[in-house]
Amino acid sequence: MNLSKKVAIVTGSGQGIGREIALTLAGRGASVVISDINPATAGDVATEIKASNGKSMAITADVTVQEEVASLIDQTAGAFGQIDILVNNAGITRDTLLMRMSGEDWDQVLLTNLKGAFLCTQAVVRHMLKQRWGRIINIASIVGLIGNAGQANYAAAKAGLIGLTKTTAREVASRGVTANVIAPGFIDTEMTRKLSDNAKQDFLRQIPLGYAGSPSDIAHAAAFLASEEARYITGHVLTVDGGMVML
Ligand code: NAD
Repeated sequence: MNLSKKVAIVTGSGQGIGREIALTLAGRGASVVISDINPATAGDVATEIKASNGKSMAITADVTVQEEVASLIDQTAGAFGQIDILVNNAGITRDTLLMRMSGEDWDQVLLTNLKGAFLCTQAVVRHMLKQRWGRIINIASIVGLIGNAGQANYAAAKAGLIGLTKTTAREVASRGVTANVIAPGFIDTEMTRKLSDNAKQDFLRQIPLGYAGSPSDIAHAAAFLASEEARYITGHVLTVDGGMVML
């Protein structure tokens, strides 16, 4: 599963799952654009990749702002001449029960997790269709499949992301471009570290394998879906969750 000569963009890759996906793709030879709303962390990850002889570049972009997304895609194409792999990973949570959820909490979560992926996909797909090769990998969540109390906004955004992916997959399939979802379960990152001990115990009880996943569990799945070997897989939702959701 060699990715040399491929160019990848990973959104939200300054930390957590996105960072690990970026390091893994770079480790397999891809040139990787580290894109994040946080310039400091994005710069650090790009430096880390270059320090181990990989090819990388940091570009600050907020995925919710169309002009910044357009500039991210233009700068990537300008620097590397092509864009083969897009990982829509940037995401946020604003958890609270439905009864207490503000319109602002709803909008921000939908904007980042769902509209951000739409904007990036729309901007990049032109390049992939022209090349007749592309891989779009959207990081959703198992809560987009089964729901979760306290996450109406997040579950709706991730369920929407699954619909967006399946539609994209159908629209671009004839040109050698695939679009798939990875639906992580409970992964040890900043996002889950801020949960209460009770909530963490609750999650752990629901995992047949009995432990939280690590960002590398998601990164290996992403590297596979990005590869030539995964060419016949599209519109798929791959749960990487220690068995929490068995469909
Ligand atoms: P994280 O909070 O550690 O990292 C998210 C990254 O996205 C950060 O670097 C942040 O700066 C960036 N980001 C946030 N808003 C952005 C924006 N508007 N534009 C660009 N970048 C932005 O989270 P994580 O746990 O690594 O999660 C990564 C993805 O995986 C998210 O989509 C999340 O919903 C999903 N996910 C995580 C888990 C988990 O258990 N950690 C489970 C299921 C799904």
